[in-house]
Amino acid sequence: MKVVVCTKQTPSTTAVFTVDANGHVSWDDPGGKPNIVNPWDEYAIEEAIRLKENHGATDAIALTVGSEESKDALKTCLAMGCTEAILVSDSAFDGSDTVGTARVLAAAINKIGDVQIAVFGNRAIDGDTGLTPVQVARKLGWTPLTYVSAIKEISNGQITVERLLDDGKETVTAPLPVVISVVKEINEPRYPSFMGIRKANRATIPVWTAADLEVDGATGAEAAKVNWGHVYAPPPREGSVEIIEGETIEEKVRKLVDKLFEEKVI
Ligand SMILES: Cc1cc2nc3c(=O)[nH]c(=O)nc-3n(C[C@H](O)[C@H](O)[C@H](O)COP(=O)(O)OP(=O)(O)OC[C@H]3O[C@@H](n4cnc5c(N)ncnc54)[C@H](O)[C@@H]3O)c2cc1C
Repeated sequence: MKVVVCTKQTPSTTAVFTVDANGHVSWDDPGGKPNIVNPWDEYAIEEAIRLKENHGATDAIALTVGSEESKDALKTCLAMGCTEAILVSDSAFDGSDTVGTARVLAAAINKIGDVQIAVFGNRAIDGDTGLTPVQVARKLGWTPLTYVSAIKEISNGQITVERLLDDGKETVTAPLPVVISVVKEINEPRYPSFMGIRKANRATIPVWTAADLEVDGATGAEAAKVNWGHVYAPPPREGSVEIIEGETIEEKVRKLVDKLFEEKVI
């Protein structure tokens, strides 16, 4: 049984964004690492590795549709313990909407072959639609299991999982193969080990292009039904800071309370 974990490289959570007059978005990070593994995917990667360690999966394969730069994210997956990583990259996929992305991911999963579980994070911190896992499931004709907070059992061609709902949990069973998207309650992601990082740095990550895949349906910006026509930075917040001076705490508090009365805050 092979397990695939789909992961995406996203801007760092501390990245500073700039949008130019044409709506072109760029970003940089004060920490010098502008791109990272989508944080929600760390739980998916960990779960894929645990499926190998605890549930007899033969492979835990990390899969990304993205640019050459996304290899960095895939190296993190290898350093954590994934057995293999594959990048799918082709200008024909640039600007795809989630449907286009799902078509490419489904084609890559079909090409890998013998995959029983495709694991996803709940959402990506940039696109933030949460649509990709269910669209991949639809494309593959597999059962989607969303908001998974625990994998209970895999036996007799069936998987039993716990799903986290707003007001409780439910346990559901479905026949394999399945697509699951996981929530952060499912596990505590491990840190990449020193040996893992060294191994990942030496690894060669294969790059599949459109010519390697049988993608069913259109991809790319032209085919995208959703148009990201208006991307803009919100105006900076207006506000000012006033430091209340005083000899003692009591004096400062008195002045603050007077001020709050004056301004009709209290
Ligand atoms: C240059 C550019 C142009 C774009 N143009 C458009 C556009 O015109 N219209 C539009 O609707 N969208 C556009 N997008 C957004 C793009 O469609 C989404 O980023 C992508 O389809 C995934 O959706 P999401 O980010 O909401 O992921 P979610 O659905 O929130 O992510 C859920 C899970 O799916 C995984 N996942 C998502 N994408 C991938 C991937 N590529 N490879 C592997 N796993 C993945 C995530 O890592 C996560 O585990 C554009 C993105 C870029 C970078």
